Formats: sequence, structure tokens, C-alpha cells
Amino acid sequence: MATAPVVPTAAVLSHETLELHLRHTFTISRSSEDVAKTLLLRLEVGGITAYGESSPVGRYEETVEQVARQIDAMHLGDADFWFFDEIIERLPRDARAARCGIDLVLHDLAGKRLGVPVYRLLGLDPGCAALTSFTIGIADLPQTIEKTREARDLPVLKVKLGSGKEVETLEAIRSIYTGTVRLDANEGWNAEQAAKILAELGRFDIEFCEQPIPAGHPEQLRFVRERSPVPIVADEDCRTLDDVALLAGCVDGINIKLVKCGGMREAVRMIHAARALGMKVMIGCMIESSVLCTAAAQLTPLVDYADLDGPLLITDDPFVGVSYDAGRLRLPPLAGLGVMPRTLR
Ligand code: MG
Repeated sequence: MATAPVVPTAAVLSHETLELHLRHTFTISRSSEDVAKTLLLRLEVGGITAYGESSPVGRYEETVEQVARQIDAMHLGDADFWFFDEIIERLPRDARAARCGIDLVLHDLAGKRLGVPVYRLLGLDPGCAALTSFTIGIADLPQTIEKTREARDLPVLKVKLGSGKEVETLEAIRSIYTGTVRLDANEGWNAEQAAKILAELGRFDIEFCEQPIPAGHPEQLRFVRERSPVPIVADEDCRTLDDVALLAGCVDGINIKLVKCGGMREAVRMIHAARALGMKVMIGCMIESSVLCTAAAQLTPLVDYADLDGPLLITDDPFVGVSYDAGRLRLPPLAGLGVMPRTLR
């Protein structure tokens, strides 16, 4: 745990590492984990405490320690906290995870100063918040069946693939689950494999498949898309606004994550760019607490699909925020991001 006041005058910015424990070991095509570390940010100014969170992952070569150092190096003594872009631009452009944490703090502070939830600041109807999927990580078939059975009342499941038993996995899931199924291969196949596997999986009524092949080859995504009965969504290939136009025509949609792109402000830009290019939009999460997932949930009235199950996958969420009603996201009517420490409830 580290606490680092960096503003000696009116505003105090501090951070704390959270260790979030997974309900089940979380396995995807490239990794497996039982504990996820995120960085909680706290800005105290004018009697208000504003929260933010950053959940950097190795896939994008960012760590909690690195984000903590970047936050410590910020100088906010002269900051006007209403000028979001000016403050976010004090961080390096590639410090996406740190930018995300600060962006969330600024949104939470603005909402609390005005006494309105962030969705109201953005003019969004919380009744239009999307359904979220619940993730089934890679496991052997008996475990996959058990996890699916536990989740079978939920309307949307996202199934992680990449073990080489794709057809058997989908057969097992479809034998007990009739809801919406989306897939995520997390870059686990090559283009030829992806086209072949997705052609076989088409019969299981799949909503879409995320990132079938390694990022960096939009033309290969186009190859897969042209051969797949299952729509294709870019995740690892779509990190920031700069990536969106490059993917037009190569995929059916993009998956935006706040920590991947740099926060809510960049996410809104990406949503509008994707819409202009005729793409569907999903908003997703890493393993993270209710702070980050509630921030992402504030934007779901703008998107087609949500995958915001981070708090459902952990056992020790230190915050209360967005709630889940049979898969439907319920935004809290509280000012700012709408999150509060569980101990203060
Ligand atoms: Mg994904």
C-alpha cells in the first residue's frame, strides 16, 4: 500500500493498491490469475472526496506500480479541476491507465460539486443502461458446465475460448443455456483457424466473437469477418481513438475499456467515431472494483453491448456502486460516479 500526497495546498491526491481476489481462477487464452491488483485514486478538495481507479494489465505493458509513479509525478498545485483535458494532458499520451484514473477522479469530483450523477452531466438516461454479460473463463468441461449452471438465469454469457475444445465447450454450454452467448478468443487463433472454428460455431447462435486473432493485422480481421457467420468485435486491436478508423470495414464492432483507452472522455470520442463509421460499440472491463465498472456503466446508454461484470468476479470489492438486476445494470442515483466505500454504507 502506498499513499503519496502530491499536492501540498488545497487539493490532496493519494493512491492505494487494491488486491482483488477472484471468485474462481480466471483463465483466458493467454493467462490465468487468482488475484488482480488495481490502483485506487482519491482526490480530496474543498471538503469533497473524489474517487478514481486504474486497472492496468500486462497485455498493454502497464502495471499498478508504473501508474502509481506516473500519478506521483503529476503536479496539480495550480489545477482548475473543471478543465478535464488540460489536467489529463499533464500525463504522457501513452500513460493510458494513469489517464483513466485521473479522468474518473475529475468526473466524480465534477458530479459531486454539482450534486448530480455523471450520467446526468452527460445527458444520459440511466433507464437505457445496457444488459451486461457475465464471463465464463476457460476451464475443463465439467467446470464449464458447473459455472454455466450457476449463471444460467443471466441473460448474456461471454465465453472465453482458446483451449482447442471450442465445439465441445459450446455444445456443453448450449445443452443447458438458451440465453445470448458471445465469445472471446483473446487473440488465441490465427486467421485460418479463426475462420474454420467460427464457421463450425455458427450453429450455436453466437452474438459475436471478440478478437479472434492477434492484434496488429486489421486486414486479417477482414479476412476472418468475410468468412465467419459470427460477427467480429475488435478488443485488443482497438485501444484508443486512433485505432477506430483503421478497423472500419474489418470488424463489425469495437470493445472499449476505460483503462485501455484512458478514461470516460476518450471512450466517448471512440463511441462517436465508431458510430460514424457504422460499427457497433461494446464497453467492457478488466478485473476491477465497482469504481471503474460503475464509471463504465455510466456510458452504457450510449452503447450496444456491455461486459461489466468485474465486481461479480471478485469476492472483496471494497466499494459499492453499480448493481445488477438479472443482468441489467442499475446506476446509483448518487452524485458523481455514484460509488462509496463499502465501510461507509
Ligand atoms: Mg476481450
